[in-house]
Amino acid sequence: MLALQKTAAAPGLELREVTAPPVPGPGEVLLAIEATGVCGTDVHIAHWTPGYESMQQAMPVTIGHETCGRVESLGAGVDPALHGRRVTVRPSVLCHSCAACLGGDPDNCTGRRGVGIGRNGAFAPQLLVPAENCVMVPDALDAEIAALTEPMTVCREAVDTAALKPGARVLVLGPGTIGQGIALFAEAAGAGEVVVLGRDDASRLAQLDALGFPQTADTLGRTLAEALVPWLDKGRFDVIFEATGAPSVVPEALSVLAKRGRLVIVGIHPAPAQVDLTALVRNHQQILGSYRAPVETWPEVLGWLEANAERARGMISHRLPLAAALDAVEIAGAKQASKVMVLQGGA
Ligand SMILES: [Zn+2]
Ligand SMILES: [Zn+2]
Repeated sequence: MLALQKTAAAPGLELREVTAPPVPGPGEVLLAIEATGVCGTDVHIAHWTPGYESMQQAMPVTIGHETCGRVESLGAGVDPALHGRRVTVRPSVLCHSCAACLGGDPDNCTGRRGVGIGRNGAFAPQLLVPAENCVMVPDALDAEIAALTEPMTVCREAVDTAALKPGARVLVLGPGTIGQGIALFAEAAGAGEVVVLGRDDASRLAQLDALGFPQTADTLGRTLAEALVPWLDKGRFDVIFEATGAPSVVPEALSVLAKRGRLVIVGIHPAPAQVDLTALVRNHQQILGSYRAPVETWPEVLGWLEANAERARGMISHRLPLAAALDAVEIAGAKQASKVMVLQGGA
């Protein structure tokens, strides 16, 4: 079968013929993949930016982790109700043998492997995964919407972490899929105002406008505070979400955050950020990190996607077949794109 693989510890990806996965073992299912989204992680893997060195142990490895597929066959011990069902996949596969797993604390598993990073992923017609990583998708939901579940759980976790109060004034830094999803969940959580900033980001800011977030600005050629003048006239922001991964943005964000405000960091930063801690203390501000969502969040996000499918569809800017997966990753790395979907036969 055709698969998009990382084959060497260097920039690049290969779309190549590989052997199909074996028959599912105990506790495993084989999925016929219908839709897989291109994540920023896939772009980083393609560019071979630092932080993914551990992938070398798994190479050649098929990438792709934001996926929806139909359960084609089951291994021993798997609930027969899964057969033929459409599922999405929690990408973090537990080892079940480390001290944390054996001690009943799987969240701290030290041997976890990510689907599409440390084990084969979903830019292929078939994917073998543990049944425990599958989350059932409502029948009415399209594969491409269900494939948004994983990034949307990251967004939902960020908004939960912020614990924002109804009426809160919210600023989202970064207009990509994560920024878009955060804007949607912040609105659902009762934010009074949601402003989104980009940098040289006309396409994605237009996409946000179409999603129902007209309050946007571009920081190209000016500081964050300069771009925010129309809103700062009314005061600083109660909650700011950092989804750019640019370390220089962090001190700028703190300067426009209200007293007792919360800055939630979602972006992966290539270098440390400089923070004026005395100003942080005097302003009683809080910086919070947010990453993988707990298991319980998945069905909640699927419920939100089912109720808001057409709005969620507005996050997808490009659709390509698996044969064009290399183009899909390249397009996803450009600022003109929002979510790029690789769609397959059964979709
Ligand atoms: Zn992702
Ligand atoms: Zn473990």
